Amino acid sequence: MATIGFIGLGNMGGPMAINLVKAGHNVKAFDLSQAAMDTVVAEGGQAASSAADAVTGADFVVSMLPAGKHVQGLFQTGDAPLFDLISKDALIIDSSTIDAATAQSVSAAAAERGLSFIDAPVSGGVGGAKAGTLAFMVGASDEQFAKAKPVLDVMGKNIFHAGQSGAGQIAKACNNMLLSILMTGTCEALNMGMKNGLDPAVLSEIMKQSSGGNWALNVYNPVPGVMDGVPSSNDYQGGFQVDLMYKDLGLAMDLSQQSASSVPMGSAARSLFSLHKAKGNGGLDFSSVIKLYQDQ
Ligand code: NAD
Repeated sequence: MATIGFIGLGNMGGPMAINLVKAGHNVKAFDLSQAAMDTVVAEGGQAASSAADAVTGADFVVSMLPAGKHVQGLFQTGDAPLFDLISKDALIIDSSTIDAATAQSVSAAAAERGLSFIDAPVSGGVGGAKAGTLAFMVGASDEQFAKAKPVLDVMGKNIFHAGQSGAGQIAKACNNMLLSILMTGTCEALNMGMKNGLDPAVLSEIMKQSSGGNWALNVYNPVPGVMDGVPSSNDYQGGFQVDLMYKDLGLAMDLSQQSASSVPMGSAARSLFSLHKAKGNGGLDFSSVIKLYQDQ
């Protein structure tokens, strides 16, 4: 069993770290939030006193942080860069969703020091993180991928080798842009049905079994009370915050700009999330975007 330094124990990182503990790994966990640390320690994780403590002596380092600036600052450019402390035999797996350019630049800086840093962002939400069924999209060499796979298998069900460094983040940006389009489209259709007298549970079931079926309808219904155990039935708490979806759509728009790709649907979805965020909903789960339609 490996010693794993895990940094970032939020909605996603917490349950991912707990799955590593349950699989028998020695997990040295660190987060700026004591409450987040307590949750992992209660399941058998070891409390690290700092990020530096978490990575010292680790065979693997896993990070699950909000954005590129956190990842780059912590590992490479901050006051006490972790690259100074991590063993050359260790593999650093960054599962945060960040821009591909930063992922590539941090990976190149690691390689210059003889270290190994790969991007492995995830899809599947908090439910997938808890159940250990996440999809991982990995940007790495063949050798790095083979080394990461047994650790990723503990936290996920589908582990994809997207390509070289940065490829995982590109795949993730494409996926989340599509997710934002599916969620806003699903909200639009459900709201229209409800305004015309349909029961949202009945309409959801019809569309799930018809050609409109999609992930939002199947596992993440945005209407409160239609589905148990999803953020919409918990006042849109937990889950995947509007702020993070807005961040991911910014990454997708940057990517579209850099590659001159047309993204009219993604751009429309980004405008909707931007408006929803501006109304003070950044901390809610992203399925709360249905409120935009209902408030009109
Ligand atoms: P979160 O805000 O719940 O967790 C982030 C954690 O990082 C927080 O607990 C915070 O205290 C910690 N943190 C920040 N800076 C730190 C530092 N310097 N040292 C130690 N800890 C630090 O976010 P989340 O929902 O867990 O998302 C994490 C990443 O996963 C994001 O990049 C997000 O885009 C991505 N993601 C989220 C979901 C989801 O459904 N929530 C799904 C897929 C991907």
